[in-house]
Amino acid sequence: MNDSQVPVAPATTIVGAGRREEWTGAVVNPPIWRASTHLYANTAALAEGPRHNEDGRFFYGRRGAPTQWALAEALTQLEPGAAGTVLYPSGVAALAGVLLTLLRPGDVVLIADNAYDPTRSMGTGLLSDLGVEPRFFDPLDLTAYQAAFCERTRAVLMEAPGSLSMEMCDLPAMARIAREKGAISVLDNTWASALGFQALEHGIDISVQALTKHVGGHSDLMMGSASAGPELYARLRTRAQQLGHVVSPDDAALALRGLRTLHVRLKQSTQSALNIATWLSERPEVGQVLCPMLPGSLGHELWKRDFTGGCGLFSMVFRGGDMAARNRFVDALRLFGIGYSWGGFESLALPIAPQAYRTVMPWPPEPAQDGDRYGVRFAIGLEDADDLIADIEQALSAWARP
Ligand SMILES: *Cc1c(COP(=O)(O)O)cnc(C)c1O
Repeated sequence: MNDSQVPVAPATTIVGAGRREEWTGAVVNPPIWRASTHLYANTAALAEGPRHNEDGRFFYGRRGAPTQWALAEALTQLEPGAAGTVLYPSGVAALAGVLLTLLRPGDVVLIADNAYDPTRSMGTGLLSDLGVEPRFFDPLDLTAYQAAFCERTRAVLMEAPGSLSMEMCDLPAMARIAREKGAISVLDNTWASALGFQALEHGIDISVQALTKHVGGHSDLMMGSASAGPELYARLRTRAQQLGHVVSPDDAALALRGLRTLHVRLKQSTQSALNIATWLSERPEVGQVLCPMLPGSLGHELWKRDFTGGCGLFSMVFRGGDMAARNRFVDALRLFGIGYSWGGFESLALPIAPQAYRTVMPWPPEPAQDGDRYGVRFAIGLEDADDLIADIEQALSAWARP
């Protein structure tokens, strides 16, 4: 822990965040405290147990033990403005935990039309079943967004950049409008992480991350988190306990290990992604590169204004061609795995069809040429960027020639 009051950069904070003498002893990393039962000295101590519902107080396994507490504390230290962080068994569980904290039957929740598909399904499935009405909005149209609020709007769920289509929206403005309307704003901040976008400092009420992606960073665990100020953190924590959400200490230790190198991994994959996106933007086979870090991309100016970092995830749309050509391209890649998810050290490619998950926004994003429709999402890992470019170049020949 940084006990001195000297302000330090996130790269410095991340190295020691969450480390406490009483949790780690003399070793660098907290041991894996596997625990369901916590034992009490006597009946008086037992009676005290439930009264102190906070990280750092032993009670019972569902409230975690030092390994989970160290991870939650580290994430809180990296999120300026946060009073605490709740851990969930996956990113989707984190989103569900947050929405089930905020919403009651009869409420309306506004969900960005370009949100991650399982987030949309949570709105139309789970929440709808519970009497909550989901309404989808175009986050690039602030006027329509403002008009979408009504008396019953309790929460707004945003994601930036948009899932698959990668357009960036004006998050501070959207958070401000939500606050004016008396709604809680929630951001799925998985893409940038707290290192790339300080959500609470930009007016967002709750910042959610799928730790499965960047924080885990090695494609071997699933976990989610939600960080918030004091009042909302207390509500999230209570609800998570009511829902029985808990993460294993083994996974928490892996996530903490991943977290230590997050800063350098993101820096490297962001630079490689930018190199590859720039190279792609000059290729005749490519209609649009959808990458907020790339000058000229949708929302690039907002990204530059509000974000301190990016990551290796971006998409592109072919100029013309058909689905078979797009699939030939993906199949011809040798250095890219084909798979969902992202944020690991290995590069991935995914054929995308966002039109299946949109009700308001156009695909591909305007301005698109007629016939540009088939896209691919790249998750750039830690391989050499020139090797990845060479691989993409040979796969583009497969795209052009059956
Ligand atoms: C992967 C992902 C999630 C869900 O995380 P899981 O751990 O897979 O449940 C949520 N939001 C975004 C933006 C994601 O990419």
